[in-house]
Amino acid sequence: MRVAVFGGGYAGLPLVRALERTLPEEDEIVLVDASSTHTVRHEVHRVIRRPSIAEDIAIPFEDLLDRADHRQQQVDEIDPEARTATFADGDTLEFDAGAICLGVETEFYDLPGVREHATPLRTIEHAEQIHEQFHETVPADGHVVVGGAGLSGIQVAGEIRALADNRGEGVTVTLLEQAATIAPSFPADIREALRDELDAQGIDVRTNATVERADDATIELAEDDGIEYDQFVWTGGIRSTRAVGTGRPQVPSTLRLTDRVFAFGDAARVVDVDGRGAPATAHTAVRQAPVAAENIRRLLEYDRTGDGGFEPRLKRYDYDQLGWLVSVGDGAVAKVGPQILRGKAAVAVKRSVGAGYLTSVGAVSKAVDLVREEFDLGTKSDDPDSEPEALDVSDEREE
Ligand SMILES: Cc1cc2nc3c(=O)[nH]c(=O)nc-3n(C[C@H](O)[C@H](O)[C@H](O)COP(=O)(O)OP(=O)(O)OC[C@H]3O[C@@H](n4cnc5c(N)ncnc54)[C@H](O)[C@@H]3O)c2cc1C
Repeated sequence: MRVAVFGGGYAGLPLVRALERTLPEEDEIVLVDASSTHTVRHEVHRVIRRPSIAEDIAIPFEDLLDRADHRQQQVDEIDPEARTATFADGDTLEFDAGAICLGVETEFYDLPGVREHATPLRTIEHAEQIHEQFHETVPADGHVVVGGAGLSGIQVAGEIRALADNRGEGVTVTLLEQAATIAPSFPADIREALRDELDAQGIDVRTNATVERADDATIELAEDDGIEYDQFVWTGGIRSTRAVGTGRPQVPSTLRLTDRVFAFGDAARVVDVDGRGAPATAHTAVRQAPVAAENIRRLLEYDRTGDGGFEPRLKRYDYDQLGWLVSVGDGAVAKVGPQILRGKAAVAVKRSVGAGYLTSVGAVSKAVDLVREEFDLGTKSDDPDSEPEALDVSDEREE
């Protein structure tokens, strides 16, 4: 039988690795991804400040897969009922079971001028572009505006603030959020700690600030006068990729979309056993993957034995947020259990989780490189003046 996994991100890659371990040898596993590399997307914003990190967070699939076949193809359409996929070059793929793990794209909400004048941040290439634009277009007293204060917007603002500080100039970094608070989907305590961290780093945060349109010099807000800018980064929303359709499909806790096709990670709106919606984060995608892997295994075994009895019971995903980790430039905010950490303690937690993820998907040497980069332990710094920094996790703990 052939199992096709579409998208090799935090959802698709751990799924493929689990299927490699659990499916019988005669089953064929195909991973379809437009890219030749797995992107460690939760670190992409860091490339804005340190472009050299790019090579540590783009890991060739061939180094990560055991027996699965990686096909580098752009998926145009998936028919989950017919179990066929069509690629941009016109090729098609038929499969017996599959999983849609294609992630999301940036949503510009058709706001006039925003797509044309703002850079989104989804890929390493976007981060490199933001780095170059900053150096080319932002003067010493310039203004960078980040639209959308969710997980990525906060982290982007932090990186740009640190980039500007490295240049030692009076650049203003403004973070706009249309809701009354930053990170509206986060618990209140981490939201407050993040706001404190942004304020402490001198980032100009404006809530109740709804972007309506932009031209090449000004962003118009619904509530206020226009804001003049030199660089505009847009992290204001996400939407389905075209291959998935018009909206992110909703799936129940079994992650099942149709008879033999599953959908999870950012690509789907997953509702867990208790009816809670899971947020679009790397953390949830990685934890959904084993559920999908086990359900695919059970259904294929049932198909193979084919005795016509009842379908096997399927595993269910139970959303369990173990913690929250957000970096803000050289700082970070972490929620571990009931405790909020800031400063180097939070940075250490964030870095170790990132390295732990890389190790878990088999990219041990990349994990080591990333940790070296993070703590300036002597390789590839883009900042020739940067000083090695000892790791000290003892400071700045808050209730
Ligand atoms: C800047 C930034 C910072 C973030 N920080 C954090 C964080 O600190 N913590 C956290 O938990 N989450 C974070 N996230 C969110 C996290 O990265 C996503 O939730 C996670 O990547 C979702 O995993 P996924 O597998 O669903 O999608 P992705 O990781 O996006 O993977 C999708 C895969 O599908 C492939 N693909 C897409 N479309 C096609 C197509 N048409 N044809 C073929 N292949 C295709 C892509 O190449 C990609 O490999 C961050 C996101 C960003 C952008």
